[in-house]
Amino acid sequence: MAEVATENLYVAARNYFLHVADMIEMDQGVKAILSQPKNEVIVNFPVRMDDGRYVMFKGYRIQHNNLLGPYKGGMRFHPQVHLDEVKALASWMTWKCALTGIPFGGAKGGVKFDPHEHSKAELDRIVRRFTHALGNNIGPEYDIPAPDMGSTAGMMTLMMDTYANSSNSLDRQACKGVVTGKTLECGGSLGRNKATGQGVVFCYQNYCQENNIDVKNQRVAIQGFGNVGGHTAAILHDLGAKVLAVGDHTAYLFDKNGLDISRLLAYSKKHRGIKGYESAEVITQKEFFSLNVDVLIPAALENQITCENVNDIKASVIVEAANGPTTNEAEKILLQRGVEVLPDIVVNAGGVAVSYFEWVQNKNSRHWDLRLVDDRLKKTMDDACFKIKETQQQFSCTRREAAMAVALRNLETVYTQRGIFP
Ligand code: NAD
Repeated sequence: MAEVATENLYVAARNYFLHVADMIEMDQGVKAILSQPKNEVIVNFPVRMDDGRYVMFKGYRIQHNNLLGPYKGGMRFHPQVHLDEVKALASWMTWKCALTGIPFGGAKGGVKFDPHEHSKAELDRIVRRFTHALGNNIGPEYDIPAPDMGSTAGMMTLMMDTYANSSNSLDRQACKGVVTGKTLECGGSLGRNKATGQGVVFCYQNYCQENNIDVKNQRVAIQGFGNVGGHTAAILHDLGAKVLAVGDHTAYLFDKNGLDISRLLAYSKKHRGIKGYESAEVITQKEFFSLNVDVLIPAALENQITCENVNDIKASVIVEAANGPTTNEAEKILLQRGVEVLPDIVVNAGGVAVSYFEWVQNKNSRHWDLRLVDDRLKKTMDDACFKIKETQQQFSCTRREAAMAVALRNLETVYTQRGIFP
């Protein structure tokens, strides 16, 4: 059956939720509650450009569920941001926290614009006005944003500062935890910057251990070379894997002997993309997805592995570092072909795990050392991978179904014990 190339992300995410809810025979009331977000906040706000013009921006904050703790999720700054995308991403945050046992709910937000097209001064004003427009829709015990595609630690620090300055002066210290993923100097945690990439690698190492694979010399291709893709590449490279190809919004590059990741990272930082890097072969996106590699790691946008390119893929495992990179139809084909898919809600959960550690440190005015952060992250990832394997055997289902089943059962248990008010 032909697949619609631009599958509506929210419809796909909701249908998948309903499918797993039925698989575990979820209580009908709980299923109804979880099938839609609790709150959908949309703000339109003006920002002054460097040339004096005022431009209106549209921002979103979708709060899917807060049963297990405050709403939690990233802020995406990208030209493709739209309501249904943010709704899907918010629900995945609920599943991710419930799966890993992190006491947060799920949310996501974003602003529809291209950060690459603005000066630093304009970006600062966009971030501050967006935070101001959100007002009390965020808060350290209510809804806690974090970085996502297009947003940085510096921007998170500005969000925290703007929120703190708009709050009662007696509460300012308690405002630090309103945002996670901040710069280290302003209340961020050691290890948060690399946390999602580190979690991706811990998850992949679990898979390798399960299948007697030595990470060393594994041939890797990574789409997305930002926070998640860049750290994943660097950590895998340090473990001896060969990163043969990377791609971003500017280009796709290949080196059959393995790319020099630290050099490419420095180049990408300086030039805001990998285009123009001369020590590698330029390839097309189609060639990238057809490469003869062992591992393919999508770490950019959703809907990247579709029925259009799924049969080109030669990797034996897809490690979903991005949210929603594989369409449901493409995943079915991959599984039929014996290609393993490590699902996003566990693979990229390292970011929210260390965000939680940052929030706990902020609450207690303490700083953990990197070793403690990494050890606790590893345990979080290992425990989640173990629970998924156990559940997979119980239901004879896919890894993604099992990951969702663990999350949904946790939520159902809490709803059942607390009851539904009134
Ligand atoms: P980022 O902005 O740091 O990097 C995004 C990368 O994707 C960049 O290299 C960019 O060039 C590339 N990209 C953008 N559009 C592209 C396109 N059309 N084709 C190819 N490449 C493209 O973002 P990030 O934080 O690394 O996020 C990447 C993915 O990881 C997203 O799906 C995000 O939701 C997910 N994620 C991020 C975190 C986190 O902590 N940052 C946590 C969990 C999940």
